[in-house]
Amino acid sequence: MKRVYNFSAGPAVLPEAVLKKAAEELYIYQDTGMSVMEMSHRSKAYLQIITDAEANLRKLMNVPDNYKILFLQGGAHTQFSMVPLNLMKNKKADFITTGSWAKKALKEAKKYLKANEVASSEDKMFSYIPDLKNLNFDPEADYVHICENNTIYGTKYHELPDTKGVDLVSDMSSCILSEPIDVSKYALIYAGAQKNIGPAGTTIVIIREDLVTKNYPEYTPLMLQYDIHVEKESMYNTPPTYGIYMCGLVFKHLLENGGIEAMYEHNKKKAAILYDYLDQSKMFKPTVVKKDRSLMNVTFNTGNDELNKKFVVEAEKNDLVNLKGHRSVGGMRASIYNAMSIEGVEALVNFMRKFESENL
Ligand code: PMP
Repeated sequence: MKRVYNFSAGPAVLPEAVLKKAAEELYIYQDTGMSVMEMSHRSKAYLQIITDAEANLRKLMNVPDNYKILFLQGGAHTQFSMVPLNLMKNKKADFITTGSWAKKALKEAKKYLKANEVASSEDKMFSYIPDLKNLNFDPEADYVHICENNTIYGTKYHELPDTKGVDLVSDMSSCILSEPIDVSKYALIYAGAQKNIGPAGTTIVIIREDLVTKNYPEYTPLMLQYDIHVEKESMYNTPPTYGIYMCGLVFKHLLENGGIEAMYEHNKKKAAILYDYLDQSKMFKPTVVKKDRSLMNVTFNTGNDELNKKFVVEAEKNDLVNLKGHRSVGGMRASIYNAMSIEGVEALVNFMRKFESENL
């Protein structure tokens, strides 16, 4: 069996070197005589794994000392509730809706506070990021929420909104570790691991220390309180041990290969190969505004559903899999996360070129 080029939006492709390392260590981890999966999360060996994972993520993202890193569960969806529950003071927050996930975050927050939509790109099927100049943020809002990379639609913020001092919260599920960022510009960052980091089941939260409070309402479930997880260093309950181990291998792998700067260069190169082809294609059209294009999720469409279907089926026969667009938008989407190789993107473009010449 050979590996295919997997363009899935998540769970997604992982670095081959990491998978091989995990396979090597799967049965017996170092000198422990057991698999990481079988280990107590309180064991010395496991404590080293989680401590190293945290330290390596801190190093990779240059996370300042006044930020805590948490390895949680429940996916980004759980953060849609945890953020408003824990950050509420004035009980109002501002949202920019740039896609389904941003909308869901707003809808969930409405259960707990006054969630105000300051801008949206829904009028044009979320094909752009709204103009960030002159947005009317409430200076008394507890935070401003954005979804930085819109996995389904293929857009990305290439600059951050000026919130005029209001705390910025970002859902980075599909762009974390893809390019350098300045963590100090954010109050809180969250991301499901299953795209750019590791297997599904672990959620990363990076939170500024002063936001870890007891301001949440009394009814807040224990598991949804940041302070508990900070106090217990992500070990309040049994953490997703194997998932965190895998995330740790990915962090180490990135550090050994030039860190996020090198990854960003690699990602820009890959995206350029695909977008350059799309920009001159007579068959495949990119679906989002050029300046707002994502480096991670590339969306395109032939404008003909039958042809789209034929493309996806034939691509699969050529070991280029998971190219179907999200069910809510149709068309195609190639997710080209960190672990997708340049060869993978070249193979896709070569196939698209051939498909275009045979079907135009
Ligand atoms: N936010 C973004 C940007 C996503 O891409 C996704 C999942 N694809 C989610 C949130 C929801 O994540 P989860 O399934 O981990 O709850």
